[in-house]
Amino acid sequence: RIVYLNGEFLPFAQARIPVMDRGFLFADGIYEVSAVLDGKLVDNAAHLARLDRSLGEIGIRNPHSLEEWVRLETELVARNGLAEGLVYMQVTRGVYERDFAFPPADVAPTVVMFTQAKKVSANPLAETGAKVVTVEDIRWKRRDIKSVALLAQVLAKQAAAQAGVAEAWMVEDGAVTEGSSSTAFIVTKDRTLVTRPLSTALLPGITRAAVLRLAAESDLRVEERLFSVEEAYAAEEAFYTSASAFVMPVVEIDGRTVGAGRPGPLTRRLRALYVEMARAS
Ligand code: PLP
Repeated sequence: RIVYLNGEFLPFAQARIPVMDRGFLFADGIYEVSAVLDGKLVDNAAHLARLDRSLGEIGIRNPHSLEEWVRLETELVARNGLAEGLVYMQVTRGVYERDFAFPPADVAPTVVMFTQAKKVSANPLAETGAKVVTVEDIRWKRRDIKSVALLAQVLAKQAAAQAGVAEAWMVEDGAVTEGSSSTAFIVTKDRTLVTRPLSTALLPGITRAAVLRLAAESDLRVEERLFSVEEAYAAEEAFYTSASAFVMPVVEIDGRTVGAGRPGPLTRRLRALYVEMARAS
């Protein structure tokens, strides 16, 4: 596998990050993940726009133009011969003597990109549906920034792994904020799609936005509002979305069966529409 590091394409073993990198010392950086399908980047412009916003929110200058990012990603995908999977991009505030405050402005950000082969469209879990558990959302208050400080999500995902399920839904004041690495949706008994409105309490999911567009085009009823864990238990259908999971049906929450215990018709339709959109990217 070939990794991109600060202007060079290198074999993994030769790509080294200095100990004084602020990403390592402080988790002082942000990341982005785009899916690759049929060798092409999915909804990539939106991911790069969010990357630019995340950088802006924490005062790291974007080291590349949109065109440069696309060129680097495309070259990385080609060098790795990746047909289906993910491109991971990370930018940190660079390398400098350890001090909490920002280093001088001439310290260059660190840029890393690598690919991961993964069945994003032909994912067998999408056929049977995923199970999730709920955990308390113990994260900081700027979850709209795609920060590499992911310890709360690491613990949430580990709780899911220990429960033998695929994802953890994080809960704050009784309402679901989002998944540990995904956006949470439910479909109510009257067939309304419900997901939490955007705020600093959750990441503005790129797949979320695409699904809401597809839902509007299909004349589905959509409500962007908070929903409780109890409402999720009682939902007709549930699913989560992300660049890597696309639209993933949820069939069980905290051991309680959702709807008929199978991926629901609305969820299946949205997944099919999303895959179609992704292939046309
Ligand atoms: N919410 C969180 C906390 C995430 O980490 C992710 C993706 O990793 C998402 C939502 C989904 O975002 P996207 O659809 O842009 O992948």
